[in-house]
Amino acid sequence: MRNPILETPAHLKTEPSAVALHPKQDLWDTVLGSLDDVAARLRLDPGIHAILREPERELTVAVPVGMDDGSIKVFKGYRVQHSSVRGPCKGGIRYHPNVNLNEVKGLAAMMTWKCAVVDIPFGGAKGGIEVDPTGMSQGELARMTRRFTSMILPILGGKRDIPAPDVNTNAQVMAWIVDTANMIEGVYMPEIATGKPLALGGSLGRREATGRGVAIVTGELLKREARALSDTTVAVQGFGNVGSWAARILHEMGCKIVALSDVSGGVYNPNGLDLAAIDKAVAQHPRHLLEGYAESDVERINNEELLEAPVDVLIPAALEHQIRADNADRIRARYIVEGANGPTTREADEILEDKGIILVPDILANAGGVAASYLEWVQNLQNFYWEEGEVNQRLMSIMKRSFAGVWDFSHAQPVPMRLGAMMLAVSKVAETAQQRGIWP
Ligand code: GLU
Repeated sequence: MRNPILETPAHLKTEPSAVALHPKQDLWDTVLGSLDDVAARLRLDPGIHAILREPERELTVAVPVGMDDGSIKVFKGYRVQHSSVRGPCKGGIRYHPNVNLNEVKGLAAMMTWKCAVVDIPFGGAKGGIEVDPTGMSQGELARMTRRFTSMILPILGGKRDIPAPDVNTNAQVMAWIVDTANMIEGVYMPEIATGKPLALGGSLGRREATGRGVAIVTGELLKREARALSDTTVAVQGFGNVGSWAARILHEMGCKIVALSDVSGGVYNPNGLDLAAIDKAVAQHPRHLLEGYAESDVERINNEELLEAPVDVLIPAALEHQIRADNADRIRARYIVEGANGPTTREADEILEDKGIILVPDILANAGGVAASYLEWVQNLQNFYWEEGEVNQRLMSIMKRSFAGVWDFSHAQPVPMRLGAMMLAVSKVAETAQQRGIWP
């Protein structure tokens, strides 16, 4: 069957490609567990802690879609606003069969921490539809997106809550969201979503930004560890928008990309993969998958083998809970940079720490996407657009400053970087919450 999302032009490619999610874990539990740890360490006011343990608003909708064959299907959709304390709620929308309320709540809270870590004036939100978009036609996807948008529109807005792409959504989906909102409200308001096509008020540099941010923080980490980029091997799990750009930019920076994977499995070459040839093969594959690439010097591996590959840097850039208690011990990378949201369970975190693996947490490592979304939103509000170099320069300075803040704080404590990033984020949100007080 056709997958029109994957057939869209390269500049509209989707956010991270999916690999199987481990079904037993609950992302909301992971997120709450880590908030509770941080609250204890910060001796957070119990009232503020209680506020942060609950999303401000959770909306569940049933989205009916007239399918091409004349039938009607109904999909469950969600938009969760975790916190608007520091600014309008911000976060992506994903289309995936594993989407559920607790996943969306967890991802929404992670957006609150992420925006605080990189110090952009947004709160956190997330949305999603429980659907397998594989094989849906462009018309079906457009109708589903437009109906979903109309149902969550009462809580959206450029100063309320601003969606963006996430797993299996892209610039085209954002265009439908913006158009639907603009048609219903009768007002031009591109700032209601980010990650839009350039022709609709999108920003230069936004498409590559999450992967670029992952590459920037990897470079900053290696610099502090006094490691040469040219001596560094990298494995990337996920070849969607995040993983593919992280791999391309790290390759440009001089690293050797030795392993890549997506839903179709992975490829491995200890001497370095030919990224240009892989891009070409993926572009020609009907579903844009890595299985389209075959070379005699390339070994086919599965996703487990990718995670366990003998590399310096491992970049999980697919879905949550890929690194778990049952495989963490077999990870051989010295560094992990989390391109995905929540790729590591709490149990796995402890195992990695015992092994001495240095991990750059998701809320810092993949914040380049939302940081560039902020730059897009600013351009929309001022109606004046920057050159790509200016966007990339601003992104670079946000990521470097944020990395330095988390690195220095974590070393001064000393705590692992995930805990350090969370402590910084939660204390920033808590400080603003305290200053604002409780209304009325
Ligand atoms: N979905 C991306 C994330 O998880 C981007 C969110 C945004 O730009 O609002 O960070």
